[in-house]
Amino acid sequence: MAKDYYKILGVDKGSSQEDIKKAFRKLAHQYHPDKAGGDEAKFKEANEAYQVLGDEKKRGQYDQFGAAAFDGSGGFGGFSGGAGPGSAWDFSGGAGFEDLGDIFGNLFGGGRGRQERRGSDIQVDVDITFKDSIFGVNKEVELIKTDTCDRCGGTGGEPGEGMETCKDCDGNGVQMGVQRTVFGNVQTKRTCATCQGTGEIPKKICTSCQGQGTQRKKQRLTVTIPSGVENGSMLRVRGQGEAIKVGATGDLFVRLHVPHDTRFERDGATLISEATIGFTQAALGDTIEVETVDGLVDLKIPAGTQSGSQFRLRGKGVPHGRGRGDQLVVVNIKTPEKLSREQKKLLEELDLKE
Ligand SMILES: [Zn+2]
Ligand SMILES: [Zn+2]
Repeated sequence: MAKDYYKILGVDKGSSQEDIKKAFRKLAHQYHPDKAGGDEAKFKEANEAYQVLGDEKKRGQYDQFGAAAFDGSGGFGGFSGGAGPGSAWDFSGGAGFEDLGDIFGNLFGGGRGRQERRGSDIQVDVDITFKDSIFGVNKEVELIKTDTCDRCGGTGGEPGEGMETCKDCDGNGVQMGVQRTVFGNVQTKRTCATCQGTGEIPKKICTSCQGQGTQRKKQRLTVTIPSGVENGSMLRVRGQGEAIKVGATGDLFVRLHVPHDTRFERDGATLISEATIGFTQAALGDTIEVETVDGLVDLKIPAGTQSGSQFRLRGKGVPHGRGRGDQLVVVNIKTPEKLSREQKKLLEELDLKE
């Protein structure tokens, strides 16, 4: 069953972002697991709902496409194409929603109306094997980063103590000022620094984060590396960067390091390898074993094969879309360097001039 995020937060569809934030705060305090009578499941549910409705862009997508867009079962791949070195692949671990967001965002011209506060992006370097770069792999990454405070859930307030109206802005979230200019006095408006525009502050600050709403944490994270990446490919994991108290969490960028494999060259989805055969094999034909990323496979060499001939092994290349690229095997013919007297004699008798 699709979840009704509006119902979870107890707000109606026409609610303002401010109302949604307030409703979430109320629930977060009510259900905070550290509190007597807290309810972790409900706390998480409210959090999940707020992750979507609290973000205008996501909320718009939710309104348009419903919760189905969020369950990750959509047919969209985990990343967007263009996997060359240095290009960014967008994907989000498991949820898949951000990808939908990007796709829909591009289709419908959606975008954030105003500059929003955002945590910093962070970057980690990850080494993977050549084979993992072809087939993809789940890689555990350890990082230390600023994350949402466990105790207060990011509100900066001591659980159960409630919020009060910000005195510096009278709950408006903005501070008015007057600036003298050559045109006379101009009224200025800026986001209240005390409450960061939320209009309320905790009655008591969280003892764990001193009201910051965030704390430094060591974290282990499993990053799903898609198939077909290359050395230098960059993955973007949405929302796994640094958290800030009010605003979106930054992104995590994973730069991949893939060692060169001397057996294979890569050209997009095609793998290219070389095989060396003997003079007689080339002339009479043979079946040889060729290395592929799937292991050894047989390759039939037809009689009369020339040096430099290419043979295609279908589906032995790099996975892309729903299929796989091919492997091209370039055949080199080795001319014998040392011949026995008997071999020499035979060749002379053949007298092959063409
Ligand atoms: Zn805290
Ligand atoms: Zn304020």
